[in-house]
Amino acid sequence: MRGMKYRRREVCLEGGVRLVMESALSARDRVGVQDFLLLENYNSEAAFIENLRRRYREGLIYTYIGSVLVSVNPYRELEIYSKQNMERHRGVNFYEISPHIRDQCILISGESGAGKTEASKKILQYYTHICPTRNNTQTIRERLLQSNPVLEAFGNAKTLRNDNSSRFGKYMDIQFDYKGAPIGGHILNYLLEKSRVAHQNHGERNFHIFYQLLEGGEEPLLKRLCLEKTTPQHHHYLVKGNCPRVSSISDKNGWKIVRNALSIIGFEEEEIQALMEIVASVLHLGNTQFGEDEEGETHVTTEPPVQFLSQLMGVDALVLKEALTHRKIVAKGEEMISPLSLEQALSARDSMAKAIYGRAFTWLVQKLNQSLAFKDEVYYSSKCSSVIGLLDIYGFEVFQHNSFEQFCINYCNEKLQQLFIELTLKSEQEEYEAEGIVWERVEYFNNKVICELVEEKHKGIIALLDEECLRRGDASDITFLEKLEDTLVGHAHFVTHKMANGKVRKAIGREEFRLLHYAGEVNYNVNGFLDKNNDLLYRHLKEVLCQSDNPVVSQCFHEEELMDQRRPESAVTQFKLSLAKLMDILMSKEPSYVRCIKPNDGKQPGRFDDVLVRHQVKYLGLLENLRVRRAGFAYRRNYEAFLERYKSLCPDTWPNWHGELADGVATLVKHLNFKPEEYKLGRSKIFIRFPRTLFMTEDALQA
Ligand code: ATP
Ligand code: MG
Repeated sequence: MRGMKYRRREVCLEGGVRLVMESALSARDRVGVQDFLLLENYNSEAAFIENLRRRYREGLIYTYIGSVLVSVNPYRELEIYSKQNMERHRGVNFYEISPHIRDQCILISGESGAGKTEASKKILQYYTHICPTRNNTQTIRERLLQSNPVLEAFGNAKTLRNDNSSRFGKYMDIQFDYKGAPIGGHILNYLLEKSRVAHQNHGERNFHIFYQLLEGGEEPLLKRLCLEKTTPQHHHYLVKGNCPRVSSISDKNGWKIVRNALSIIGFEEEEIQALMEIVASVLHLGNTQFGEDEEGETHVTTEPPVQFLSQLMGVDALVLKEALTHRKIVAKGEEMISPLSLEQALSARDSMAKAIYGRAFTWLVQKLNQSLAFKDEVYYSSKCSSVIGLLDIYGFEVFQHNSFEQFCINYCNEKLQQLFIELTLKSEQEEYEAEGIVWERVEYFNNKVICELVEEKHKGIIALLDEECLRRGDASDITFLEKLEDTLVGHAHFVTHKMANGKVRKAIGREEFRLLHYAGEVNYNVNGFLDKNNDLLYRHLKEVLCQSDNPVVSQCFHEEELMDQRRPESAVTQFKLSLAKLMDILMSKEPSYVRCIKPNDGKQPGRFDDVLVRHQVKYLGLLENLRVRRAGFAYRRNYEAFLERYKSLCPDTWPNWHGELADGVATLVKHLNFKPEEYKLGRSKIFIRFPRTLFMTEDALQA
């Protein structure tokens, strides 16, 4: 095991994650190896799993592969995150971050329930507790921390995989000044699973906030929201999954936490009120029912919910009813009103609920950003010296029934895996080649082929879906499926019922297509793909929402939108574009990885299911990752930077080396007694195999 001194130094060189997670080191930590690089039989999957299992049994959930951190969900509270543990590392990270460190990002990946969100919270807690304090940064720390419960209340929900599953993606930047004090933050949010507002599968729930408000909301508030004396069972939108209560969740307590967090973040009372009016309006919308009269005309059959809605939104009840049962069409400059069928009215109602909630969520993130923004621009440009980005996105998921949402979520995970491959496996090997370093290739599965299957121009699944959404006439979910079959026939990662011809192990339904993802096979049912991708809200309803006197709704729906004749980007294309932007951001930073593993499917502490873990180790590419790291070099630095930093350690290079840079570095390392197996000199860089070599050099510098 490495000495403490080195360990701390290592932290400084490799960035934050390592530091956070290593705060728990003790004698127990000698169980197994704490870095897979030290594993003797590093080619053996069994040895890899055994190491994880032994450590897990001792409550040691973190193990490294070089700079990649592997984390296994303990499903119980561990004592390692105490303040004392964090204190041990106070001040050792930032002052020493050497000039080569660029902005960093921490990419947390793993399937649903593997522990990504928990890890991201621990990291944030660490940074806010441990970094140097200045009086004026206290507020920002609190706000950064409190943004989590707010976002989780509105964006997380109980699914079959996870009681607190993230139903949106989040990338949060924490900005630090030159002393390492957090001075601001910024959140980017990705595609919220809006469909959950109106529908949940069996055993799942709607977003936490609905239950929190009902269970914890104060009487006068509930009265104002026309929700007094109601329970989740009284609300249509909360009973679809038949799961109003979850033993691991206290909604009452959740309410207190959210309410408090909103105040700390700086939301005005009126804003909180307006936000809750939206939450309540969604519930009243869900309770609005329709019927058909003798002439077959659709009308609203439930008066109270519409009256409540009208009261909360500040829109006339008659206008609301009309908009829920009719649509407005503008043809040749003339406005025509046509009645909706019962089914259309129900769907219009659900669209309205999803639109209000979805936009309120975006508004919430904007508000959080205003509150986290570093205010002093001049100060900012001169003093914001580093940024650490934290990515916590919905994990790969497979259910019995998978739809458009799972397709988007799993596509997103493919992109992240692709980034991991690009940045760790591929670029690493390419760099050795480019630098002329002798090296044994490591084979790995490159999931690029699946990313292309989804996003390729013209013939990728997204392009075909958009094409079908634009097509008038007989376009339907089924014609979309047929189009996929025609275009993608023979693709190694795409199968349908027709194409499989009974030759696959697990049956594929007639309305399904199967993707062979890097993490496993998923059957997607095409029902609802077109509607969800179009994500249309009837103009009539938009007009009504523009009139609302709820301050949040009126900020979310603008008249200009009604004027705009252009068709908005489809949901999946917006998602694709925002993911592409995210990839650019991540590529521009120095990434650290946390790879989360789910130890069992029962959310149970202490149970380590071999088969499940092996599957994840495999698809996450952890063994390949280890092989590349083992065969490779822990650190590299271009000659100029290396010489600049260490030239003072050798009389021949100090104060300046005038010859070729490569010769200068060769002279320097010779003087430092680097052993031949410890390093290699490439075309433009020095490669150092073991961290300790670099630490020793760093120590010499400090001496
Ligand atoms: P999703 O993709 O569905 O959002 P996730 O990877 O974010 O999943 P988490 O919500 O972080 O998963 O974890 C699921 C649950 O596992 C948590 O609610 C918590 O109960 C438990 N858990 C995860 N990590 C830890 C940890 N480090 N310590 C204690 N419990 C944990
Ligand atoms: Mg999560």
